[in-house]
Amino acid sequence: MTKEFAATTPNTPLDVAIIGAGFAGMYMLHRLRRAGFAVRVVELGPDVGGTWYWNRYPGARCDVESLQYSYSFDEGIQQDWTWTERFATQPEILRYANFVADRLDLRRDIQFGVRITSGRFDTTANQWVLETDSGTAIHARQVITAVGCLSTANVPQIAGMESFEGQTIHTSDWPRDGVNLSGKRVAIIGTGSTAIQAIPEIARQAGHLTVFQRTPNFSVPARNAPLTPETVDWWKKNYPDLRKKARETMRSGTIYDLPTRPAIGTDPADVRAELEARWQKGGANFAYAFSDLIFDETANAMAAEFVRDKIRSIVHDPETAEALCPKDYPIFCKRICVDSDYFATFNRPNVSLVNLRQTPLERITSKGVQTTDQEHEFDVIIYATGFDAITGSLLRLNLTGTQGRTLKEKWADGPKAYLGLATSEFPNLFMITGPGSPSVLSNVLVSIEQHVEFLSDLMEHIRSHGITRIETTAKDEEDWAHHVTEVAHTTLYPKAASWYMGANIPGKPRVFMPYIGVDAYRKKCAEVAAQGYVGFQMNGADAVAHASAG
Ligand code: NAP
Repeated sequence: MTKEFAATTPNTPLDVAIIGAGFAGMYMLHRLRRAGFAVRVVELGPDVGGTWYWNRYPGARCDVESLQYSYSFDEGIQQDWTWTERFATQPEILRYANFVADRLDLRRDIQFGVRITSGRFDTTANQWVLETDSGTAIHARQVITAVGCLSTANVPQIAGMESFEGQTIHTSDWPRDGVNLSGKRVAIIGTGSTAIQAIPEIARQAGHLTVFQRTPNFSVPARNAPLTPETVDWWKKNYPDLRKKARETMRSGTIYDLPTRPAIGTDPADVRAELEARWQKGGANFAYAFSDLIFDETANAMAAEFVRDKIRSIVHDPETAEALCPKDYPIFCKRICVDSDYFATFNRPNVSLVNLRQTPLERITSKGVQTTDQEHEFDVIIYATGFDAITGSLLRLNLTGTQGRTLKEKWADGPKAYLGLATSEFPNLFMITGPGSPSVLSNVLVSIEQHVEFLSDLMEHIRSHGITRIETTAKDEEDWAHHVTEVAHTTLYPKAASWYMGANIPGKPRVFMPYIGVDAYRKKCAEVAAQGYVGFQMNGADAVAHASAG
């Protein structure tokens, strides 16, 4: 159903235009509408859900436990929705998004099937003019992006791709009607979190699956299982305390069993016993076994070797096992993968691994994949090659700021955004989970709620003070970007060529983008708000002069 929306004009702008109807855009809409703003969401897809709408590949699940990967802002919603598995599947998460959209009657203010093609800030009217592919511009005083951190596909440029005569699929744009892989010769390129979830499922369906691996990944077992009514009841009863704990005391915004000691100085047998206990328990809790795993290379190496030993014990063929063992970067510095039977899948007779480090991929042919030693023939090639993370979807909006520069031009050397929320030269523009905020290094639902609540308070603040223009400064964003980098360099994270660093996209600046520490970040934002939004310059009726945060 396509709803007609009233035209916006320079004289009748929206108070706020939100871009994206995933979990961030949905909650932002709810908060602003409840506060009485004239607000509309513009969404490219035909329905709500964002990343969980598009990523329908077989095996897609969240790797944060379902009881924690959900909104906390509405007691009725969290009591009335019941998760069925420890790690929810994509269809269940999408049902949840729809449940929330229905419950809060969100769709009446969401314009679906519309792409923002460009935008410019009108400095006279202090408004954004967003151009759309429907030909109708949207005028809004404020724009809030809720475009997601992992929503612009990284489609690699491999010679001959267009010549392949079989079916080509990117995992993040999986056909909504599904794909019949039964009996087919299937290739999958990539071995990140997505592929690690998809490979076991695809292997069960396909005639033969060939996995093309460039860099092996560390993965821990999910040990997914149905949730018992007792577990669900316990969480529902204790939600207020648990949510508070996740928000305020966790580096990641997810409750894990926090470490009580460093690995260095602990008896190596005890280190292995602790890692083993967590391996058996399943999930990313494994990463929290010791306090120094992400800070100390020797401690980190112990955990890495433990996982490599597990891979060697699971995979029967020693050569395949060795190829699957990551050796050239620290564990936990690329997002840890959480799998169900990933390594064991390589014991199946219908699965083979091509190690691209030994036989690099040369080109795609009409029949399949040509590596340096042979042509592999396929009916289907699946690209599980990830995303232009964090900044990709922001730059694609093609926004131009007050100095005539696009965001892409301004961020040519890497993104700089004060608190990950706003960038100078782009007044009245705010980013939910933007670069420099915890975003992908957190339980993103927790980070989304924090940003939405900060921004709705800010919108109310500027409305009540008659502010027409709000902008951060070059100095404030520079100082914050410096701090983000400084915090990252207290850890081992920068030692891996990860998508956190932009390293997966040729030519992308190598800048560590997420902020490490949900707890510290929340405190900082609260201080900024308490000090009258220090770091933002505001102009308007009250002409409030705000000092620099630095
Ligand atoms: P990814 O981690 O970036 O992995 C992409 C894979 O494609 C890598 O193995 C990469 O190899 C390979 N690749 C890229 N270009 C290639 C080329 N030209 N030739 C050969 N191989 C190529 O992407 P992802 O797996 O989609 O995961 C991205 C993030 O999404 C995750 O880290 C996670 O945060 C999120 N995610 C979450 C879940 C969940 O919650 N369960 C599930 C899926 C994804 P190299 O490493 O050598 O570049």
